[in-house]
Amino acid sequence: EKVEAIVHNWIEIDLSALRHNFAEIKRRAGAGVEIIPVVKNNAYGHGAPIIAGELVRLGVRTLAVSKMDEALTLRRGGINLPLLVLSGLEGNEYGDALEHNFMPVVFSPDQIEVCNMVGRDRDRRFPVHVKFDTGMGRLGFMISEIDKIIEVLRKSPYVQVDGVMTHFADADNRSSTHILEQLTCFERIIKILKSEGIFPGRIHASNSAAFFLFPQSHFNAVRPGLALYGPAHFAPDLKPVMSFKSRILQVKDIPAGHSVGYGRTFIAPRAMRIAVVSAGYGDGYFRCLSNKAEVIIRGVRCPIVGRVSMNLLTVDVSHVPDVVPDDEVVLLGSQGHECIGADELAEKAGTISYEIYCRLGANPLKRIV
Ligand code: PLP
Repeated sequence: EKVEAIVHNWIEIDLSALRHNFAEIKRRAGAGVEIIPVVKNNAYGHGAPIIAGELVRLGVRTLAVSKMDEALTLRRGGINLPLLVLSGLEGNEYGDALEHNFMPVVFSPDQIEVCNMVGRDRDRRFPVHVKFDTGMGRLGFMISEIDKIIEVLRKSPYVQVDGVMTHFADADNRSSTHILEQLTCFERIIKILKSEGIFPGRIHASNSAAFFLFPQSHFNAVRPGLALYGPAHFAPDLKPVMSFKSRILQVKDIPAGHSVGYGRTFIAPRAMRIAVVSAGYGDGYFRCLSNKAEVIIRGVRCPIVGRVSMNLLTVDVSHVPDVVPDDEVVLLGSQGHECIGADELAEKAGTISYEIYCRLGANPLKRIV
């Protein structure tokens, strides 16, 4: 017997928007600059195997993930490209990583030494990307350690420096002078490495914001994440890939003075028509958007009234004709002429679009459109 449940809310992934964004990035990168798309955290919630599969079809040569388990997920999903592991490898991951063609980012001499040993055991050079902290204050060698690193690399014939990289702290700030200082430091590092006979291979620094706002940061490769998935203030021409949708369970008329939801945070100021939507914070939506955000129903923006609960939320549809149960509700994305972007939700929720994507994207039901 086949039992089927009705779907209450889901994520839609628009691969044509991804293709548009990738083409836009490629156009701006120009020839000679490799794009290493960042598909960590399940491709920012969009579904890594799906996104990576499309990027492979678009011709990328390397993808970046955060951790080894994400790299393995992609391999199991049939993605056979070399994968850059941004947070590096640990413990006994190294051997399997080399077998699977995963390239770790390295940020300690020990890691380089382990790669050398593992490479020697298998008689294969271990490709690594050496990361420098030029001002982000996170992973990476300090420039003051460069002599030591050069010495370790010289003693590590089974390590192949496939890339040298850094990461910017405030690239989305157009008037940042810090990024210029980071760039100067990185350029010095590259110069020193080259003068010591270490060819850095792929040289990369740009995240999405740096890519769009500071073209001098492109070097010969770039690592965009966010820009693949949608527009941002620094790149408004991009298209959103993710939508979050739900359905109406009930439409009801309430009299003035009737309260809506937990805590009675909304009291109807007049007779109103309310739609009860089948999505809540348990589905990845944000409780802090109670009485704050809007959704789109029949192409019209409708304000959320009352608290967002675990699996339900309530909206005012008094101004929208013909709303009925089962109508589609867009919580993120567009319908008709209206669009609710991740930036809009992020601003209201006091966060950034990255977190909106990661949270909503945890929804296991993804439809490719
Ligand atoms: N490079 C590194 C090391 C990162 O950690 C990230 C993401 O945080 C990116 C590139 C991509 O950044 P963005 O999504 O801002 O383009």
